[in-house]
Amino acid sequence: MIRLSKSCLSDLEKKAVIRVLDNEFLGMGREVNKFEGELTEYFGRPALCVSTGTAALHLALQAICVGKGDEVLVQSLTYVASFQAISATGAKPIACEVNPDTLCIDLSDAETKLTKNTKAIMPVHYSGGVGTLDEVYSFAEKHGLRVIEDAAHAFGTKYKGRKVGSFGDIACFSFDGIKNITSGEGGCVVTNDHSVIKKISDARLLGVENDSEKRASGKRSWDFDVKCQGWRYHMSDIMAAIGIIQLKRYPELALKRKKIAKIYDLLLAKSEYISPLLHNYNEVVPHIYVVRIKGLKDRNELQKHFLKKSIQIGYHYKPNHWLSIYQDKSLSLYVTESIFPELISLPLHPDISKEDVKYVVENLIKYFE
Ligand SMILES: *Cc1c(COP(=O)(O)O)cnc(C)c1O
Repeated sequence: MIRLSKSCLSDLEKKAVIRVLDNEFLGMGREVNKFEGELTEYFGRPALCVSTGTAALHLALQAICVGKGDEVLVQSLTYVASFQAISATGAKPIACEVNPDTLCIDLSDAETKLTKNTKAIMPVHYSGGVGTLDEVYSFAEKHGLRVIEDAAHAFGTKYKGRKVGSFGDIACFSFDGIKNITSGEGGCVVTNDHSVIKKISDARLLGVENDSEKRASGKRSWDFDVKCQGWRYHMSDIMAAIGIIQLKRYPELALKRKKIAKIYDLLLAKSEYISPLLHNYNEVVPHIYVVRIKGLKDRNELQKHFLKKSIQIGYHYKPNHWLSIYQDKSLSLYVTESIFPELISLPLHPDISKEDVKYVVENLIKYFE
């Protein structure tokens, strides 16, 4: 089976986990502290590790005081994690259109959805590309909004020569099993805003004041105070041990992802009806490889056919404004609703071979002939 995505692990990750198990200290301790230090160095600004990418988004929103009565602009075409993180704070996710060329948030549509309650915008770096991120920041500045980048797909991506997360307001990454790097489950928040860092550092450990600092030096909090709502959102040493190795291996993992995407681009270049979502792979590290198939009628049928050929394909994502919890009968998003049925994600992970890519493309072209 050629899998759509998967974790790619070497013996090094396995050894690192065994070493932590041998220590018999599995919680948040020295490994998490080390991983955070390495991420901070990688981004050139403070990074905090948490239990998931969703937790990273939730904590970031809480740290900028987004809550009940507030609104956050976000594209409907994203994983439900973006929406859930917003609604977890009590705020309302405002579903916006995407730009059809980048599948990132459409600012002209977002502008029509601004109200006096709009507090923040959450651009989603769909598939690893960031669209016109400069424009998101000028839009936010113009309208007095905070920016929380859902960078779950974009670990390692550069924008105008700078790493995503190394500039801007707040960026949140995911290290779940199939993301560009993994720590099993996990995520991180990166920002230069020290008050956000301080708040998240406590809020991830049930709001226990300065618990992160104590754990980093091997101590525990006994006599403590709690002043805000916190969560059990910290990372464990087992996870961090995996993450540290993955970060070390990342140059190689990223290069493989880029190479595979470039081969797809090349093989699909001549097709009339299959249009890849195009990226500049000198800058973008792709998380998924997405194509749009004009006039595609029955995606389920295509998925079934491909399974018979031992190929998993998928699609990202069912628009959030169609989910019962976020449904809004008065809302129609024409671009999102017409693009979504035509989207397909082809297998992409570092262990896919050139032959696999050829086989996938041959089958895709044959199917439509
Ligand atoms: C994976 C993902 C997240 C959440 O990350 P988890 O670590 O799975 O919680 C958020 N947004 C997008 C777009 C994602 O793909």
